[in-house]
Amino acid sequence: MSLTLSVDGERWRRHLRTVADQTAGLAPVAKGNGYGFGLGRLARKAQWLGADILAIGTYEELAEVARRFDGDLMVLAPWRPTGSALPDGLPATRVVHTVSRLVDLLALLDREPDTRIVLERMTSMRRHGMSADELRSAAQLLERHPATVEGVAFHLPLADGAHLTEVVGLVNDVVASGLATRRLWVSHLTPRELASLRTSYADFEVRPRIGTDLWLGERAALSVTATVLDVHEVERGDVFGYRGRTAPKAGHILVVSGGTAHGIGLEAPTGDHSIRARAATLARGGLDAVGFVRSPYTVDGKQRLFAEPPHMQVSMLFLPHGPRVPAVGDEVDVRVRYTTTTFDSVVIS
Ligand SMILES: *Cc1c(COP(=O)(O)O)cnc(C)c1O
Repeated sequence: MSLTLSVDGERWRRHLRTVADQTAGLAPVAKGNGYGFGLGRLARKAQWLGADILAIGTYEELAEVARRFDGDLMVLAPWRPTGSALPDGLPATRVVHTVSRLVDLLALLDREPDTRIVLERMTSMRRHGMSADELRSAAQLLERHPATVEGVAFHLPLADGAHLTEVVGLVNDVVASGLATRRLWVSHLTPRELASLRTSYADFEVRPRIGTDLWLGERAALSVTATVLDVHEVERGDVFGYRGRTAPKAGHILVVSGGTAHGIGLEAPTGDHSIRARAATLARGGLDAVGFVRSPYTVDGKQRLFAEPPHMQVSMLFLPHGPRVPAVGDEVDVRVRYTTTTFDSVVIS
């Protein structure tokens, strides 16, 4: 009775192993909903892969991964004077903080002199990070300080191979800053860009931080299904749903698992909504013309329409006469965004 992510375990693990083997210096990233798998599971998989470090999103996520992965833990969210506490029992020596502002560097060094840090350099993302000047000031601050600088981080936009010019400039800033480190933590560089960076800067160690292409890179190993919870035959004009809508024609209302609590949302309306197109669909008896919206559920080979917006944990679909009507207990396919979906269960074969 659930929204289920089924994983072909052998295929998934083979993919994870291949990515790890082909990506020198890989730092797996596990954050948020754990890319659909859950943070704890990804932490165990990072351990299985033999990773020396796991990058996570926030300080709040440390507790969930710390007991399942025994290497270093890099927090991608920049350290701030508030909200950056470690969970009880986690040794500070395992944690690598990301520092993106000089004021934070001063505050952190004051509180925890022998801390481990990565300095984040601002990129064209403009999310967090220091300017070239700030990096130089940070280097001066750190010169006679016991803290360990574990490298400099660049978080780049998803530009699909168009980063090299920017990255060369950023690396030059690191060199010019006078920082002693020769380690770079990079996000969203393609394998070709990584190779080029390593050729140009052979004295640097490059550590790619990868989430999506690692955990979700083998889509054929993943399938998402929902259980058919109820099936009701309706005649044209029958009333249903929270809003008392009427069925535009005879068919079936299907109640399936998966709702707003799982991250199931309304899909974009189906196609052209000009008045002429609507009139044409109306003439054909098309359901989108009467305001039904496409759902991510597939029944009998076709993506079906929501009978009304998703409820908290279930959705109601409208199935016109014609297609095979599933039975209560059947499973139907659902198309989801893995990073925004909370599954009731994850089953790995
Ligand atoms: C989330 C994140 C990543 C991983 O991104 P993917 O697109 O999932 O590979 C890398 N670096 C930073 C800073 C991130 O926040």
